[in-house]
Amino acid sequence: MSTPKIQTQIPSATQVYVSENMLTVDLSDGRSISVPLGWYPRLLHGNAIERNNWRLTAGGRGIHWTDLDEDISVENLLAGKPSGESQTSLKNWLTQRFLGTITRYRKRRDAATWHFVETCSTWPGSDYEEQSVKPVTGVLCQECLAKITSN
Ligand SMILES: [Zn+2]
Repeated sequence: MSTPKIQTQIPSATQVYVSENMLTVDLSDGRSISVPLGWYPRLLHGNAIERNNWRLTAGGRGIHWTDLDEDISVENLLAGKPSGESQTSLKNWLTQRFLGTITRYRKRRDAATWHFVETCSTWPGSDYEEQSVKPVTGVLCQECLAKITSN
């Protein structure tokens, strides 16, 4: 006995709206689907400009956010599948994202560890080198890193 195949036609995305807490996608078949932004942590962490900088990919089968390096397929949206990104990957992304905003790195002249959070217990107050770009030598302070990833 054969069961009839169910033909599922996946509609394409036509318009995307991202609010503070919801992602809403208009579909080519006239429907709109809304999901909590918490399903996609990168969108959740993005600012309004980054969230609104999206483009449709593969003829509307997917949505891509360039600034956030996030891709969501209409198929997964309709299937109710949240982002499959691991905590480690997300944490790394958040760290890199935060480091990109830092404009002051300091290290003691006689040390190799760069600090970038002023509240660090070993933030150099005197006899230090300072630069505005991410250092290419030395190491980043673990305490400073912990501070930016803890919130
Ligand atoms: Zn530090």
